[in-house]
Amino acid sequence: HAKEGGNRYLFFSEDMNKKAVKRLQVENLIRLGLKEDYFQVYYQPKMSFSDGTLNGMEALVRFITPKNGLVSPGTFIPIAEETGQIVEIGDLVLRKACIDMKRWLDEGIIRGRVAVNLSARQFNLPDLMQRIDRILHETELDPHHLELEITEGTVMNNAKHAIETMHQIRDRGIHLAMDDFGTGYSSLSYLRKFPLNTLKIDKAFVDDADSDFGKAMIDTIVTIARNLGLSTVAEGVETNEQKAFMTEMECDVLQGYLYSKPLSAVEFSQFAMMDKMT
Ligand code: C2E
Ligand code: CA
Ligand code: CA
Ligand code: CA
Repeated sequence: HAKEGGNRYLFFSEDMNKKAVKRLQVENLIRLGLKEDYFQVYYQPKMSFSDGTLNGMEALVRFITPKNGLVSPGTFIPIAEETGQIVEIGDLVLRKACIDMKRWLDEGIIRGRVAVNLSARQFNLPDLMQRIDRILHETELDPHHLELEITEGTVMNNAKHAIETMHQIRDRGIHLAMDDFGTGYSSLSYLRKFPLNTLKIDKAFVDDADSDFGKAMIDTIVTIARNLGLSTVAEGVETNEQKAFMTEMECDVLQGYLYSKPLSAVEFSQFAMMDKMT
């Protein structure tokens, strides 16, 4: 009995150890990446349902190291969130996104907004608004061309405080979208109090658009949004069937591999110019 317990403990601690080592490796890699400027911002087009044209884009961070290649956000974002490095990464992404958007607006190749993901750690910073204001001021981007995406988990932790912060964001003219909507646990009574512009329907529901359950879920989310006066974005649209159903539901904006994967700044500007011409 004692031996068994001992083995189990050994196994458990080895597993923990591997995790801790991996965590430390990623943390060190992020520190190097911040120093060496290995973080880039890619853009995924968002297409408007009404006329099928480019409506804006979502900024997605890409961590590309010479030695390790692409490190996926799924790997490093949760660790950066734990270590606090997400704050520096977040500022960097917001600054690059504002610089690129400002240039594309000046060049006349884009309209709408650039959407930037805001992690819980960033959202809860006491000086969040000063950081945003400083970046908008430095880059000279009109706040009306910026959108921030937050998740239910971020705002439900301390809903009262979150509502205040959301109002401060909206007061600047910045748009607010609830990301991955339907996967979290935000209550409908709170949703009414959140000063949002947009609900982003999570990819999981879009994936299920071929089942009765998935259809009912999407229908419900679009109905909730409409009743609250919010627009809807479907994320992760991959097939024409999904597009057809989301269009039938009159979802306002579609985003996914069917239109384009996330693109580098150079690729995105080409996409935007092509979209403008055709
Ligand atoms: P998210 O905000 O829900 O972003 C959507 C993710 O779905 C992106 O993955 C995007 O590349 C992917 N995607 C878009 N369309 C399709 C599709 O049609 N099919 C499939 N299979 N995937 C699609 P990515 O770039 O790997 O990002 C993953 C997550 O990492 C994001 O989920 C977001 O939570 C986080 N993230 C990415 N960039 C940032 C950032 O700059 N800041 C913060 N805080 N989080 C970020
Ligand atoms: Ca997002
Ligand atoms: Ca999302
Ligand atoms: Ca997602």
